[in-house]
Amino acid sequence: MAKIGVLGLQGAVREHLWAIEASGAEGTIIKRPEELADVDGLIIPGGESTAIRRLIDKYGFMEELKKFAADGKPMFGTCAGLILLANDLVGYDAPHIGVMDVKVERNSFGRQRESFEADITIAGVADNFSAVFIRAPHIVEAGENVEVLAKHNDRIVAARDGQFLGCSFHPELTDDYRLMNYFVKMVEETKSKNFA
Ligand code: GLN
Repeated sequence: MAKIGVLGLQGAVREHLWAIEASGAEGTIIKRPEELADVDGLIIPGGESTAIRRLIDKYGFMEELKKFAADGKPMFGTCAGLILLANDLVGYDAPHIGVMDVKVERNSFGRQRESFEADITIAGVADNFSAVFIRAPHIVEAGENVEVLAKHNDRIVAARDGQFLGCSFHPELTDDYRLMNYFVKMVEETKSKNFA
């Protein structure tokens, strides 16, 4: 069984564990960098990207997260997690982890619509997915090898760049586990390749 970690520094951590387990994998909360060695894939949850970044630095996670990515292990960033994975951020000189080839803008959907739900189509995942957006970012530009999976109001809200999956919304806040199923499959495929 694939083992998937949820970076447990800040944000919607516990909800992801239910979704992982409902998708047929084992879930565990990652509190210390050395725990990354035990998991086959990692979810970086939504929350506040600046707060998560501060804690990444405080607990010495940055190098280990980059190593996790360099080892080819799948990573899934939701909302703030997408901001942390992106290699380019609108209005910032430097990215955070900077491993996914997308340019992301924070808080994209306007103050009056801080949070909302929308029905979206996610390519290869679902054509009627109810997505919960909370002060959500969006992908402004996607690199050449990035597969755009979903748009809302002409803005990219989900994409895959090889081992990296990112979305603007919070899939863990509903009981629709299809996007998590998709990530679990990514993790299982990578794991079986590494054992082959
Ligand atoms: N607005 C948050 C940020 O910039 C992201 C919001 C979320 O994760 N729901 O980090």
